[in-house]
Amino acid sequence: MNRRKFLRTCACLTLTGAAPALLSCHAACRRKTPPPAPAAPRAVNFEASYLALHSSGELAKRGEALWDMMASCQLCPRRCGAKRIDGEEGFCRASSALEISGFSPHFGEEAPLVGKGGSGTIFLTNCTLRCVFCINWETSQGGDGVVRSIDDMADMMLSLQDTGCHNVNMVTPTHYSPHIVLALDRAASKGLTVPVVWNTCGWERLEILQILDGIVDIYLPDYKYSDGKMAAKYSSTAEDYPDVARAALLEMNRQAGVAKPPLSGLMQRGLMIRHLVMPNDVSGSGEVMRWIGANLPKDTYVNIMSQYRPMYKAHDHEEIARPITRDEYHVVVQTARKAGLTNLEIQGYPLS
Ligand code: SF4
Repeated sequence: MNRRKFLRTCACLTLTGAAPALLSCHAACRRKTPPPAPAAPRAVNFEASYLALHSSGELAKRGEALWDMMASCQLCPRRCGAKRIDGEEGFCRASSALEISGFSPHFGEEAPLVGKGGSGTIFLTNCTLRCVFCINWETSQGGDGVVRSIDDMADMMLSLQDTGCHNVNMVTPTHYSPHIVLALDRAASKGLTVPVVWNTCGWERLEILQILDGIVDIYLPDYKYSDGKMAAKYSSTAEDYPDVARAALLEMNRQAGVAKPPLSGLMQRGLMIRHLVMPNDVSGSGEVMRWIGANLPKDTYVNIMSQYRPMYKAHDHEEIARPITRDEYHVVVQTARKAGLTNLEIQGYPLS
Protein backbone atom coordinates (compact mmCIF):
# COMPACT_ATOMS: atom_id res chain seq x y z
CA MET A 1 0.00 0.00 0.00
CA ASN A 2 1.56 3.32 -0.97
CA ARG A 3 1.67 6.22 1.47
CA ARG A 4 -1.23 8.09 -0.06
CA LYS A 5 -3.52 5.07 0.01
CA PHE A 6 -2.39 4.22 3.49
CA LEU A 7 -3.11 7.68 4.85
CA ARG A 8 -6.55 7.73 3.24
CA THR A 9 -7.30 4.34 4.74
CA CYS A 10 -6.21 5.55 8.15
CA ALA A 11 -8.54 8.51 7.94
CA CYS A 12 -11.43 6.21 7.09
CA LEU A 13 -10.66 3.75 9.85
CA THR A 14 -10.23 6.22 12.66
CA LEU A 15 -13.69 5.96 14.02
CA THR A 16 -13.91 2.22 13.61
CA GLY A 17 -11.13 1.60 16.10
CA ALA A 18 -9.14 -0.29 13.49
CA ALA A 19 -6.71 2.52 12.84
CA PRO A 20 -4.28 1.89 15.71
CA ALA A 21 -3.38 -1.56 14.45
CA LEU A 22 -2.86 -0.27 10.93
CA LEU A 23 -0.87 2.67 12.19
CA SER A 24 1.43 0.33 14.06
CA CYS A 25 2.03 -1.59 10.87
CA HIS A 26 2.76 1.57 8.91
CA ALA A 27 5.20 2.89 11.48
CA ALA A 28 7.05 -0.40 11.55
CA CYS A 29 7.24 -0.45 7.75
CA ARG A 30 8.62 3.06 7.49
CA ARG A 31 11.47 2.65 9.93
CA LYS A 32 13.26 -0.26 11.52
CA THR A 33 12.11 0.66 15.00
CA PRO A 34 10.11 -1.34 17.52
CA PRO A 35 6.32 -1.09 17.22
CA PRO A 36 4.67 1.60 19.33
CA ALA A 37 4.25 0.97 23.02
CA PRO A 38 0.67 0.17 24.07
CA ALA A 39 0.22 3.41 25.95
CA ALA A 40 2.28 6.53 26.54
CA PRO A 41 3.53 6.76 30.12
CA ARG A 42 2.01 9.82 31.70
CA ALA A 43 4.63 12.31 32.75
CA VAL A 44 4.91 13.08 36.42
CA ASN A 45 4.44 16.74 37.41
CA PHE A 46 3.42 17.76 33.94
CA GLU A 47 0.09 19.06 32.74
CA ALA A 48 -0.41 20.02 29.12
CA SER A 49 -1.00 23.75 28.78
CA TYR A 50 -4.40 23.52 27.11
CA LEU A 51 -6.04 21.58 29.95
CA ALA A 52 -6.45 24.60 32.23
CA LEU A 53 -7.89 26.65 29.38
CA HIS A 54 -10.27 23.82 28.56
CA SER A 55 -11.50 23.66 32.15
CA SER A 56 -12.17 27.41 32.26
CA GLY A 57 -13.98 27.44 28.90
CA GLU A 58 -11.31 29.71 27.44
CA LEU A 59 -10.07 27.14 24.94
CA ALA A 60 -13.42 26.98 23.15
CA LYS A 61 -13.64 30.79 23.15
CA ARG A 62 -10.22 31.10 21.54
CA GLY A 63 -11.17 28.51 18.93
CA GLU A 64 -14.27 30.54 18.08
CA ALA A 65 -12.22 33.74 17.89
CA LEU A 66 -9.86 32.09 15.43
CA TRP A 67 -12.82 30.74 13.48
CA ASP A 68 -14.26 34.23 13.09
CA MET A 69 -10.98 35.35 11.53
CA MET A 70 -11.81 33.16 8.53
CA ALA A 71 -14.66 35.49 7.57
CA SER A 72 -12.02 37.54 5.77
CA CYS A 73 -9.03 35.39 6.50
CA GLN A 74 -6.20 36.93 8.47
CA LEU A 75 -4.73 33.74 9.92
CA CYS A 76 -1.31 33.95 8.27
CA PRO A 77 0.97 36.82 7.21
CA ARG A 78 -0.48 36.79 3.67
CA ARG A 79 -3.74 38.11 5.14
CA CYS A 80 -5.34 37.37 1.79
CA GLY A 81 -8.85 38.06 3.07
CA ALA A 82 -10.47 34.96 1.56
CA LYS A 83 -14.05 34.50 2.72
CA ARG A 84 -13.37 31.01 3.93
CA ILE A 85 -16.51 30.72 6.04
CA ASP A 86 -18.47 31.28 2.82
CA GLY A 87 -16.54 28.46 1.15
CA GLU A 88 -13.90 30.54 -0.61
CA GLU A 89 -10.36 29.18 -0.77
CA GLY A 90 -7.40 31.37 0.16
CA PHE A 91 -3.88 31.56 -1.24
CA CYS A 92 -3.13 28.48 0.87
CA ARG A 93 -5.99 26.65 -0.98
CA ALA A 94 -7.87 26.07 2.27
CA SER A 95 -11.53 26.90 2.75
CA SER A 96 -13.22 26.41 6.10
CA ALA A 97 -13.45 22.68 5.34
CA LEU A 98 -10.76 20.86 7.30
CA GLU A 99 -8.62 18.62 5.11
CA ILE A 100 -6.24 16.04 6.54
CA SER A 101 -3.93 13.81 4.55
CA GLY A 102 -3.24 11.37 7.36
CA PHE A 103 -2.21 10.71 10.93
CA SER A 104 0.22 8.24 12.40
CA PRO A 105 2.90 7.69 15.02
CA HIS A 106 6.05 9.17 13.50
CA PHE A 107 9.50 7.93 14.43
CA GLY A 108 11.48 10.34 12.26
CA GLU A 109 10.99 13.49 14.33
CA GLU A 110 13.55 14.79 16.83
CA ALA A 111 14.42 12.12 19.42
CA PRO A 112 12.93 13.99 22.43
CA LEU A 113 9.57 14.03 20.64
CA VAL A 114 9.66 10.38 19.60
CA GLY A 115 10.60 8.30 22.66
CA LYS A 116 9.35 4.73 22.36
CA GLY A 117 5.80 5.45 21.27
CA GLY A 118 6.46 8.00 18.53
CA SER A 119 5.26 11.51 17.87
CA GLY A 120 1.56 11.59 16.99
CA THR A 121 1.61 13.43 13.69
CA ILE A 122 -1.49 14.80 12.00
CA PHE A 123 -0.72 16.04 8.48
CA LEU A 124 -2.84 19.00 7.44
CA THR A 125 -3.49 19.57 3.74
CA ASN A 126 -2.50 22.88 2.05
CA CYS A 127 0.06 25.47 3.14
CA THR A 128 0.50 29.21 3.54
CA LEU A 129 4.12 29.38 2.36
CA ARG A 130 4.18 27.03 -0.68
CA CYS A 131 7.94 26.54 -1.14
CA VAL A 132 9.20 25.31 -4.53
CA PHE A 133 11.42 22.70 -2.84
CA CYS A 134 8.78 21.23 -0.50
CA ILE A 135 9.47 17.59 0.36
CA ASN A 136 5.82 17.14 1.32
CA TRP A 137 4.38 18.92 -1.74
CA GLU A 138 1.66 16.38 -2.48
CA THR A 139 -0.02 17.33 0.79
CA SER A 140 1.06 20.97 1.06
CA GLN A 141 0.38 21.94 -2.55
CA GLY A 142 -1.04 18.93 -4.39
CA GLY A 143 -4.32 18.74 -2.50
CA ASP A 144 -3.69 15.28 -1.06
CA GLY A 145 -6.18 14.91 1.76
CA VAL A 146 -9.72 14.10 2.83
CA VAL A 147 -12.32 16.47 4.27
CA ARG A 148 -12.79 15.64 7.94
CA SER A 149 -14.85 17.09 10.77
CA ILE A 150 -13.51 18.70 13.92
CA ASP A 151 -14.83 15.72 15.88
CA ASP A 152 -12.85 13.43 13.55
CA MET A 153 -9.71 15.38 14.35
CA ALA A 154 -10.38 15.15 18.08
CA ASP A 155 -10.76 11.38 17.71
CA MET A 156 -7.49 11.20 15.77
CA MET A 157 -5.73 12.96 18.65
CA LEU A 158 -7.18 10.49 21.14
CA SER A 159 -6.36 7.54 18.89
CA LEU A 160 -2.71 8.66 18.67
CA GLN A 161 -2.53 9.03 22.44
CA ASP A 162 -4.10 5.60 22.93
CA THR A 163 -1.61 4.11 20.47
CA GLY A 164 1.23 5.25 22.72
CA CYS A 165 2.33 8.53 21.14
CA HIS A 166 3.93 11.02 23.50
CA ASN A 167 2.40 14.12 21.91
CA VAL A 168 0.07 15.25 19.15
CA ASN A 169 2.12 16.91 16.44
CA MET A 170 0.19 19.27 14.16
CA VAL A 171 2.10 19.44 10.88
CA THR A 172 1.57 22.72 8.95
CA PRO A 173 -1.16 23.95 11.30
CA THR A 174 -1.51 27.70 10.68
CA HIS A 175 -4.39 27.82 8.21
CA TYR A 176 -6.36 25.28 10.26
CA SER A 177 -5.59 26.79 13.68
CA PRO A 178 -9.32 27.36 14.44
CA HIS A 179 -10.13 23.72 13.74
CA ILE A 180 -7.17 22.48 15.78
CA VAL A 181 -8.03 24.54 18.86
CA LEU A 182 -11.68 23.47 18.71
CA ALA A 183 -10.63 19.82 18.25
CA LEU A 184 -8.27 20.09 21.21
CA ASP A 185 -11.13 21.36 23.33
CA ARG A 186 -13.28 18.36 22.38
CA ALA A 187 -10.40 15.90 22.80
CA ALA A 188 -9.55 17.35 26.23
CA SER A 189 -13.11 16.68 27.36
CA LYS A 190 -12.59 13.02 26.37
CA GLY A 191 -9.24 12.56 28.11
CA LEU A 192 -6.48 13.99 25.93
CA THR A 193 -3.49 14.87 28.13
CA VAL A 194 -0.36 14.68 25.95
CA PRO A 195 1.48 17.88 24.90
CA VAL A 196 0.65 19.67 21.66
CA VAL A 197 3.41 20.29 19.13
CA TRP A 198 2.96 23.24 16.73
CA ASN A 199 5.04 22.07 13.74
CA THR A 200 5.20 25.19 11.58
CA CYS A 201 7.16 26.88 8.79
CA GLY A 202 7.90 29.68 11.25
CA TRP A 203 6.02 32.29 9.23
CA GLU A 204 3.41 33.11 11.86
CA ARG A 205 1.58 36.30 12.78
CA LEU A 206 2.22 37.56 16.30
CA GLU A 207 -1.50 38.14 16.84
CA ILE A 208 -2.25 34.49 16.13
CA LEU A 209 0.57 33.25 18.34
CA GLN A 210 -0.77 35.37 21.16
CA ILE A 211 -4.12 33.61 20.84
CA LEU A 212 -2.24 30.31 21.07
CA ASP A 213 -0.49 31.38 24.29
CA GLY A 214 -1.21 28.74 26.91
CA ILE A 215 -2.45 26.24 24.32
CA VAL A 216 0.74 25.06 22.63
CA ASP A 217 3.30 23.21 24.74
CA ILE A 218 6.06 22.70 22.18
CA TYR A 219 6.76 25.06 19.32
CA LEU A 220 8.63 23.35 16.47
CA PRO A 221 9.20 26.10 13.90
CA ASP A 222 11.50 26.27 10.91
CA TYR A 223 13.74 29.27 10.59
CA LYS A 224 14.19 28.92 6.84
CA TYR A 225 15.82 32.07 5.54
CA SER A 226 17.67 35.14 6.71
CA ASP A 227 17.41 36.85 3.31
CA GLY A 228 13.99 38.10 2.25
CA LYS A 229 14.93 37.96 -1.43
CA MET A 230 15.51 34.22 -1.18
CA ALA A 231 12.26 33.79 0.73
CA ALA A 232 10.42 35.71 -1.98
CA LYS A 233 12.06 33.66 -4.73
CA TYR A 234 11.49 30.20 -3.30
CA SER A 235 8.50 30.64 -0.99
CA SER A 236 5.85 32.40 -3.05
CA THR A 237 6.79 36.08 -2.59
CA ALA A 238 7.13 35.87 1.19
CA GLU A 239 9.80 38.57 1.30
CA ASP A 240 8.94 39.42 4.89
CA TYR A 241 9.76 35.88 6.04
CA PRO A 242 12.93 36.78 8.03
CA ASP A 243 11.31 39.64 9.96
CA VAL A 244 8.10 37.73 10.59
CA ALA A 245 9.91 34.55 11.63
CA ARG A 246 12.22 36.41 14.03
CA ALA A 247 9.32 38.09 15.78
CA ALA A 248 7.53 34.74 15.93
CA LEU A 249 10.57 32.98 17.43
CA LEU A 250 10.86 35.60 20.15
CA GLU A 251 7.18 35.18 21.00
CA MET A 252 7.39 31.38 20.97
CA ASN A 253 10.36 31.54 23.32
CA ARG A 254 8.48 33.92 25.60
CA GLN A 255 5.56 31.50 25.79
CA ALA A 256 7.26 28.11 25.92
CA GLY A 257 10.84 28.84 26.99
CA VAL A 258 13.94 26.78 26.36
CA ALA A 259 13.24 23.19 25.37
CA LYS A 260 14.83 20.91 27.91
CA PRO A 261 13.44 17.44 28.49
CA PRO A 262 13.20 16.03 32.01
CA LEU A 263 15.01 12.83 32.98
CA SER A 264 12.57 10.77 30.92
CA GLY A 265 14.11 12.37 27.83
CA LEU A 266 10.66 13.21 26.46
CA MET A 267 10.12 16.85 25.58
CA GLN A 268 7.14 18.41 27.31
CA ARG A 269 7.50 22.13 26.69
CA GLY A 270 9.71 24.59 24.88
CA LEU A 271 10.92 26.00 21.59
CA MET A 272 12.68 23.63 19.17
CA ILE A 273 14.00 25.42 16.07
CA ARG A 274 14.73 23.62 12.81
CA HIS A 275 17.07 25.07 10.20
CA LEU A 276 17.47 23.34 6.84
CA VAL A 277 20.86 24.13 5.31
CA MET A 278 20.40 24.78 1.59
CA PRO A 279 22.94 24.72 -1.25
CA ASN A 280 24.75 27.93 -2.20
CA ASP A 281 23.74 29.44 1.13
CA VAL A 282 20.24 30.18 -0.10
CA SER A 283 19.07 29.80 3.50
CA GLY A 284 21.54 32.40 4.80
CA SER A 285 22.51 29.95 7.51
CA GLY A 286 25.34 31.94 9.07
CA GLU A 287 23.08 34.89 9.76
CA VAL A 288 20.37 32.53 11.05
CA MET A 289 22.79 31.12 13.64
CA ARG A 290 24.19 34.52 14.59
CA TRP A 291 20.69 35.93 15.09
CA ILE A 292 19.62 33.04 17.32
CA GLY A 293 22.83 33.36 19.34
CA ALA A 294 22.33 37.09 19.82
CA ASN A 295 18.58 37.17 20.48
CA LEU A 296 17.55 33.92 22.16
CA PRO A 297 19.03 32.00 25.09
CA LYS A 298 22.30 30.33 24.17
CA ASP A 299 20.85 26.94 25.09
CA THR A 300 17.96 27.29 22.64
CA TYR A 301 17.44 23.96 20.89
CA VAL A 302 18.51 24.22 17.25
CA ASN A 303 18.37 21.30 14.84
CA ILE A 304 20.80 21.97 11.97
CA MET A 305 19.36 19.80 9.22
CA SER A 306 21.56 18.37 6.49
CA GLN A 307 19.05 16.35 4.50
CA TYR A 308 18.18 18.86 1.77
CA ARG A 309 17.43 17.14 -1.55
CA PRO A 310 15.99 18.87 -4.61
CA MET A 311 12.29 17.98 -4.65
CA TYR A 312 9.15 19.21 -6.36
CA LYS A 313 10.11 22.25 -8.50
CA ALA A 314 13.66 22.65 -7.14
CA HIS A 315 15.16 21.26 -10.33
CA ASP A 316 13.89 24.35 -12.17
CA HIS A 317 16.33 26.47 -10.13
CA GLU A 318 20.01 25.72 -10.63
CA GLU A 319 21.20 27.09 -7.28
CA ILE A 320 18.99 24.69 -5.31
CA ALA A 321 19.10 21.74 -7.72
CA ARG A 322 21.60 19.70 -5.71
CA PRO A 323 22.13 18.39 -2.15
CA ILE A 324 24.43 20.35 0.14
CA THR A 325 28.10 19.48 0.49
CA ARG A 326 29.97 18.41 3.56
CA ASP A 327 31.81 21.74 3.61
CA GLU A 328 28.58 23.74 3.43
CA TYR A 329 27.22 21.90 6.44
CA HIS A 330 30.49 22.17 8.37
CA VAL A 331 30.59 25.96 7.98
CA VAL A 332 27.10 26.29 9.45
CA VAL A 333 27.91 24.09 12.44
CA GLN A 334 31.07 26.08 13.09
CA THR A 335 29.17 29.36 12.86
CA ALA A 336 26.55 28.10 15.31
CA ARG A 337 29.27 27.19 17.78
CA LYS A 338 30.97 30.55 17.34
CA ALA A 339 27.61 32.18 18.05
CA GLY A 340 27.73 30.45 21.43
CA LEU A 341 24.85 28.05 20.81
CA THR A 342 25.14 25.04 23.12
CA ASN A 343 22.02 22.96 22.45
CA LEU A 344 22.63 21.91 18.87
CA GLU A 345 21.27 18.85 17.13
CA ILE A 346 23.94 18.01 14.57
CA GLN A 347 22.21 15.70 12.16
CA GLY A 348 25.28 14.18 10.56
CA TYR A 349 27.48 15.33 7.77
CA PRO A 350 26.72 14.71 4.11
CA LEU A 351 29.14 12.20 2.59
CA SER A 352 30.56 14.43 -0.16
S1 SF4 B 1 -4.36 31.18 6.07
FE1 SF4 B 1 -4.80 30.92 3.87
S2 SF4 B 1 -6.73 31.99 3.56
FE2 SF4 B 1 -5.90 32.69 5.52
S3 SF4 B 1 -4.72 34.55 5.09
FE3 SF4 B 1 -3.30 32.84 4.97
S4 SF4 B 1 -3.28 32.21 2.80
FE4 SF4 B 1 -5.09 33.49 3.13
